[in-house]
Amino acid sequence: MTDSPQKSHKPATKAVTSGRRSEWTGAVVNPPVWRASTHLYESVADLRSGSSANQDGQFFYGRRGSPTQWSLAEALTEMEPGAAGTMLYPSGVAAIACALLAVLKPGDEVLLTDSSYDPSRSYADAFLKRMGVTARYYDPQIGADVATLFSDKTKAILLESPGSLTFEVQDVPAICKASKDAGIVSLLDNTWATSRYFPAITHGVDISIVAATKYIVGHSDVMMGAATTHEKYWTRLRRTAQQLGQVVSPDDAYLAARGLRTLEVRLKQHEQSALAIAHWLKERPEVGKVLHPALPDCPGHEIWKRDFDGSSGLFSFVLSNGDEQSRAVFIDALTFFGIGYSWGGFESLALPVDPGKYRTATDWTMKGALVRLNIGLEDPDDLIADLAKAFEHYNNVLL
Ligand SMILES: *Cc1c(COP(=O)(O)O)cnc(C)c1O
Repeated sequence: MTDSPQKSHKPATKAVTSGRRSEWTGAVVNPPVWRASTHLYESVADLRSGSSANQDGQFFYGRRGSPTQWSLAEALTEMEPGAAGTMLYPSGVAAIACALLAVLKPGDEVLLTDSSYDPSRSYADAFLKRMGVTARYYDPQIGADVATLFSDKTKAILLESPGSLTFEVQDVPAICKASKDAGIVSLLDNTWATSRYFPAITHGVDISIVAATKYIVGHSDVMMGAATTHEKYWTRLRRTAQQLGQVVSPDDAYLAARGLRTLEVRLKQHEQSALAIAHWLKERPEVGKVLHPALPDCPGHEIWKRDFDGSSGLFSFVLSNGDEQSRAVFIDALTFFGIGYSWGGFESLALPVDPGKYRTATDWTMKGALVRLNIGLEDPDDLIADLAKAFEHYNNVLL
């Protein structure tokens, strides 16, 4: 086996082969868990020759990781065409926070899509503000017109496509081109699609971020974030993460790498089941819009068709006559759908979501109550039967 997959290999092949250097795996298939704080040197001369400027992939000190973390980071880099490197963080929020810190300084301004994940907003509105950075929000559908919002102080822009509650698909290439022309760094929260369904750097993104907690880990048992970037920002991203003391445990890296190997088959099944359920919901009399990027109801659907290689398992739909109470009756009546926030695992979830509470640059005018579904790996027929039963309860309450 070669140590590194060829650039021309298909994504499924890369997901299996990437990061499995023989010096990290030895004779076994999965890179073992290397637990270490101290890395030992052969001699004082050897210690002296190791420097704090060592690249990853060389022993230095526990905080810089070990083969378990390097292997995962290298795999994520190889799976993102155009990437120079990946930093790992103990959560998706940490990845977003540290990546923004790497490119902002006091006096700067950052633009965030109004569809941003709420903790990204809190970080910008509270923490970055304290650091003297101003946050401004923009309409996710703005496209190339984003250039009209730029000021001399604008230094970074955060995109999230699709939004994880409302699923607007952004014109990432247009926004990133306008940003690049103005010398502004673009960062994308790519958790929904991952590099598999949206190779971000080839679409113009500078720093692509995922909550690996979701599809990379895939089994709802580890928190992790990753930021992947091209040559220009790689050193800055890496140094900032190191200065902030960011490190993930080898056990967590091991589990994330294990998840990564099956990403392809999981994503395909999430996609297929979610599409079947979204189309079924679309025909239900109780349901208004189905906000799934692969369905025409979804704002930015045409852009999704143009730019994405697939769709994943998370989407929302509107209970047209629903309110807080009837929506709760619907969700509580579900058997296979757990009620919880973190998605991307093998189990289905349902969540009441209220995007109007978070927005500042745009209004959320959709009538009815929104439900977000994470479609897991159960048989979609069972999930549909479960939803049908919950609609019966819901209709009885409305009567
Ligand atoms: C969950 C999530 C995050 C944060 O990830 P954590 O690992 O939970 O910190 C960021 N962005 C999106 C879109 C998410 O769904």
